[in-house]
Amino acid sequence: MKNSDLNSNLVYSTSQGEICPGCAQAIDKCVCRDMKKAAVPKTGGAVRLRYEKGLKGKGMTIITGLALSEAGLLDLAKKLKQRFGTGGSVKDYAIELQGDFQKQAGQELRKLGFIK
Ligand SMILES: [Zn+2]
Repeated sequence: MKNSDLNSNLVYSTSQGEICPGCAQAIDKCVCRDMKKAAVPKTGGAVRLRYEKGLKGKGMTIITGLALSEAGLLDLAKKLKQRFGTGGSVKDYAIELQGDFQKQAGQELRKLGFIK
């Protein structure tokens, strides 16, 4: 009797494994990262472009309000960077492009349907 109890406990604990506190899935099936990447922020629908001057020299164009997940933003940022031949990054659901590309980025986003 004792042996079979032990066995069933063992099977139970190995099949369950560790549970992720974020998504309540087993650690090896954790979906938190994917969920974060796929999450789309509420934007109110207004895409905004602004130019911020850097402390020295080049400033950057910052695009906010895009209804895109982090993965989507990274993808779009890549396209814009290639298009304008500049560098940039995605931070806090905003695309940052090095240099003043407000006009060009606005046209591009209009073409892609992000701005109506
Ligand atoms: Zn998780």
